[in-house]
Amino acid sequence: MEVKIEKQRGLAEIENEKRFAIAQPLNKRDLVEIVDAWQEKLKVKPNRIQIRKMRNKWCSCSSKGNLTINSELTRLPREIVEYAILHELLHLIVPNHGKTFKVLLSAYLPDWEELHSKLASCSVLLSKII
Ligand SMILES: [Zn+2]
Repeated sequence: MEVKIEKQRGLAEIENEKRFAIAQPLNKRDLVEIVDAWQEKLKVKPNRIQIRKMRNKWCSCSSKGNLTINSELTRLPREIVEYAILHELLHLIVPNHGKTFKVLLSAYLPDWEELHSKLASCSVLLSKII
């Protein structure tokens, strides 16, 4: 019985930690860490990474492999930020949004379609917050 109570408390603590994590806004350093983690997973290396405010885009990746990340992404939930960054880094492997691109997205983030629509709905905010 004691063990069970211990377990329950453990779970409650974990839930609280999760809530805390969600409530914590991201910062630029978090963005860099997310980029680094995906770079490692995808085995890609952008030519240059820049984090700055942009008016119209959350992220972009040029044909030269220069990645620009909108610093305003820190205002969005982490899971959406993960998707946005994965999306751009994948363009270093597949430049278009064709079948291969979607297969790779599904392999790395199975719920990417949901995250994509969430990001798209957040884009409405983009022009208003900057
Ligand atoms: Zn794209």
